[in-house]
Order: sequence, then structure tokens, then C-alpha cells
Amino acid sequence: MRVLIVEDEPRLAENIARSLRESAGYAVDVAADGQEGWFLAESNTYDVVLLDLMLPQMDGMQLLTRIRQAGQLTPVLVLTARDEKESVVALLNAGADDYLTKPFDLGELLARTKALIRRGKGQPSPVLVIGDLQLNTVNRTVQRSGRTIMLTAMEYRVLEYLAHRPGAVVSKTELLEHLYDYNWEKFSNVIEVYISGLRRKLDNGSDQQLIHTVRGQGYILQD
Ligand code: CA
Repeated sequence: MRVLIVEDEPRLAENIARSLRESAGYAVDVAADGQEGWFLAESNTYDVVLLDLMLPQMDGMQLLTRIRQAGQLTPVLVLTARDEKESVVALLNAGADDYLTKPFDLGELLARTKALIRRGKGQPSPVLVIGDLQLNTVNRTVQRSGRTIMLTAMEYRVLEYLAHRPGAVVSKTELLEHLYDYNWEKFSNVIEVYISGLRRKLDNGSDQQLIHTVRGQGYILQD
């Protein structure tokens, strides 16, 4: 998953980014003003946007309006200060999906972010089940037929993304866009390495393959 944080307080932005990277394994991009936020939102595909309200260049409300006018369905969680409460109604009416009042607990922010990502992908339960595969997105554990499977951080990120879109063909480009942040160099062959590692671990001891290749298109996770 890939998250965009638009926040002009550098320390807060960095704390949120670190928490999302370390506790959830998400790729994170940070914009320090509304203009940069719009540039990133327009040129990348995010699974959720965390949006501060008071921003230089373009404020959170203007940026939210642009995102929705551009037809982007990405869930947006607004971070507001206590004295901005009256604008919450206007933000929700403008297409925000949730809000959190500063100062907030990073654990709550993480839980709300995960919930928005799940709902945005039509997967309301935090435990994703595909056949005999169970993926717990809260504690990031994977089991197949009750057997716990140890994955590397990147293998888990690939599997989690696929598991949010069961039965859909997911291209290598889509995986790269959602698993790496702006600063990463992207090589499509790394995805093949993670997929082959996942197959080896997931299918060990099972005669049913879970990750299928659709030639020239991508991968499907299905029973
Ligand atoms: Ca601010």
C-alpha cells in the first residue's frame, strides 16, 4: 500500500511517515504544501491520502476539492486542529472520508488509515480469507490451512496488496506503483522475485496454487 501525507509540520509528517512505514509496511510520500500534494496526487496512485487542513500554497479543502473533481476515488482522511471543527462538515461534504483532530494518537491514525484502505478496496474485514489462506492485516501474519507462513517484509506487502483485490488481475506496474514510494527506483523484475518467493512459501505442502500468472497481464490471487 502507498500513502500520501500532505502536512506542513515537518516533525509531525515525519512521525506519521515513520509509523506507517514501520508499523504497517506502507510506502509513504510526504508533501509539505498543497501545491506539492496536488502534484503527487495527480502523478501517482495512492491507497489513502492523509491531508492536513491548514497548508501553504493551497489549503487542504482546495486540494481535496481538486482530488475529487479529478475523479479520484482514493480515500481521504483529514487532520484538523481543534479550532477547525466547524469545517469538518464542509470537508466531509466535499468528499473527505474521515477526520482526526490534532493532537491524535498515532495508533488511532494507523487503525483509521487501515480501515479506510480496506473499505476503499471493498474488504471491510481486517482478516482477509482466500480459500485456505488467511491474512491478518492488523498483526501482519499469514496462515495457510492453519500453518503460519513467515514472509519477508516485501513479500508480505505484495501478498497484502493482492489479497485486497482477490480474483482481479494485478499488473506488475500496479504492484510497483502501490509498493514503492517516490524515491525508489523501480525495476519490474523485483516483483517477479517476490512472487516466486511467495509461491514457494505459500504452496509448500499444498497441491493448490494460489498466485496465478496471467501471461502479459499480471497476477491473480485466487483459490
Ligand atoms: Ca498545517
